[in-house]
Amino acid sequence: METPEKTRNLFIVTYGCQMNVYDSGRLGSLMRQRGWAMAESQESADFIFVNTCSIREKAARRVIGHLKRLRALKKKNPGLILGVGGCVAEQEGRRLIDEVPWLNLVVGPGRLGEIPAAAEALAAGGPPVVLSGQGPGFPEIPLAGAGPAPVSSFLTIMSGCDNYCAYCVVPYLRGPESSRPKGEILAEARDLVSRGSMEITLLGQNVNSYGRPGHRGGEDFVDLLTEVSRIPGLRRLRFTTSHPKDFPQALVDLFGRLPNLCEHLHLPLQAGSDRVLAAMGRRYGWERYLGLVAALREACPGLALSTDVIVGFPGETEAEYLETVSALRTVRFDSIFSFKYSDRPMTAANSLPGKVPEEEKQRRLAHLQAIQKTITLERHQALVGKTVEALVEGFGRHPGQLTGRARDLKVINFDGPARLLGSLAMVTVTEAWPVSLIGRLA
Ligand code: SF4
Repeated sequence: METPEKTRNLFIVTYGCQMNVYDSGRLGSLMRQRGWAMAESQESADFIFVNTCSIREKAARRVIGHLKRLRALKKKNPGLILGVGGCVAEQEGRRLIDEVPWLNLVVGPGRLGEIPAAAEALAAGGPPVVLSGQGPGFPEIPLAGAGPAPVSSFLTIMSGCDNYCAYCVVPYLRGPESSRPKGEILAEARDLVSRGSMEITLLGQNVNSYGRPGHRGGEDFVDLLTEVSRIPGLRRLRFTTSHPKDFPQALVDLFGRLPNLCEHLHLPLQAGSDRVLAAMGRRYGWERYLGLVAALREACPGLALSTDVIVGFPGETEAEYLETVSALRTVRFDSIFSFKYSDRPMTAANSLPGKVPEEEKQRRLAHLQAIQKTITLERHQALVGKTVEALVEGFGRHPGQLTGRARDLKVINFDGPARLLGSLAMVTVTEAWPVSLIGRLA
């Protein structure tokens, strides 16, 4: 009698942005289709794939640390396949295998679709595989029968970036912009909704460039959003990330007009000083940014805004840093992601003079974060007493507590029955904290 072939297990570890989360999900579907199962832990896996991000130097170091810790598992199970993907893989290539010799597979983001074949070759005892540069991308994965989808799903609509901001490695690692055909995106969105997703976030490094002339595929972003929003059963629609220089009035007008387009926008500012913005290559000034915020708030008065800010860009003076502080006080963002500038390989800012000392960058970051913490808390306090719609995503920290997100992306925790998981609930805000809200079922 033939022994049935053992199902092999894959475990995916994801670092970094939502695009990596999406890529990891798609890789999981592709591997399942090729007969792999998903392992519950690294210890029970035959293949561990670490999907990485190298936008920040700190993130890249964390990934190397993770790979080094996997050596013990590899010693116990020499047949274990260890792979690394994403931006660190693209950036480091074969050097990663020099640094982590027990690694079997290094795959850049443009070649993820080739992982099943590489894993087969490695399982058969083949030599290490390094894949980088632009490949054909993910093959179309048949969507039917894929099981329930998360109540809130990501959907990548474009990849790459043509903007070459002076501090950013993405254009070098993710390649030029390319848009997915609209029909393919709509089919995937419909499938997600049919499998239970109530919320979809359209993803891309710069979604507002979707379908730009010269892209491989894609049409108009405003049309795409409008058509996705019409999918029956889709209760919430979001998109990220947007570049402020690519924000036509027609897109602004969609807020408040498409009923399921949520009242939240992530609009990276990066700095409040025009000189620093120009040195960063952002191609907008503070006045343009502020004008856009005003137009958005006029179209949608309840719109919550989040942003990215970098402190200590080369040459940033104290006065220029204070312009960023003043920008935060003027716009009063709901939340910010703030970072100290760090040199990244290949980028233009690497060779700029006037590097700000580490302690000074740290001081500016701590000062900025303290100011924003107060603003965020005040914005949360303004919601106390209001009733918001929460998409219930999981259990909270305390027994009997649920956690969800309001339409403006704020986290809200409240007591409620487990049957509400995966549904929309109306919750009255009772308390405001710096990172979340507390409420009770309305
Ligand atoms: S727009 Fe600028 S910061 Fe954003 S991914 Fe492109 S180069 Fe990087």
